Amino acid sequence: MRLLLVEDDPDLGEALVANLARDGFAVDLVADCASAEAALASNSYALVLLDLGLPDGDGLDIVRRLRRRRSSVPVIVLTARDAIEDRVTGLEAGADDYLVKPFAHAELVARIRAVLRRPGRDLGAAIEVGRLVLEPATGDVSVGGRPLLLPRRERMLLEILMRRAGRVVTRRVLEEALWDQEKEIESNTLESHVSRLRKRLLEAGAGVQIRTIRGVGYMLEAE
Ligand code: CA
Repeated sequence: MRLLLVEDDPDLGEALVANLARDGFAVDLVADCASAEAALASNSYALVLLDLGLPDGDGLDIVRRLRRRRSSVPVIVLTARDAIEDRVTGLEAGADDYLVKPFAHAELVARIRAVLRRPGRDLGAAIEVGRLVLEPATGDVSVGGRPLLLPRRERMLLEILMRRAGRVVTRRVLEEALWDQEKEIESNTLESHVSRLRKRLLEAGAGVQIRTIRGVGYMLEAE
């Protein structure tokens, strides 16, 4: 699940990216309104974490523009402004939740999960491949209605393959998504994750196969 973090304090930004990675979120960090708009135009994010005081403008303008474009991507505002009128303005602009700095990381994660679970989010229909079903809003995967519980990286791997089912996903794309924050990727690590995931999918009767496209990457298909 990929999040966009808009934060111009580099220390806070880097710390949040590292902490959120530990909780299973891949985070793109940008430091101003212009970069945020560019990132939002070219990527699909599950959620936006937004600082309000940015060097080239007010973060709330980003929320207003998103809502004007009828985007329903959830936004959590992170800010040092704790005056009640600022909170109200933020929520009126279309933000989903509000967190005043400094905040505990556990609280941020709890708010993110709560916002992602909120019903009525138009994050697209469930993706079905074989007997596998992925709920885009939560990233939950099930087989025949039963939840399929997977270790974090295998779940991320499966989500990417499901979102691009029937198409080849290159090794590079998978490695960048799975090892965002890691210094090195051992050469056989992707293979070992794919092979464990194949085994679990087979055991769960998922009715799919992950094909190896030699020298290129992998492709998920219904059997
Ligand atoms: Ca700021």
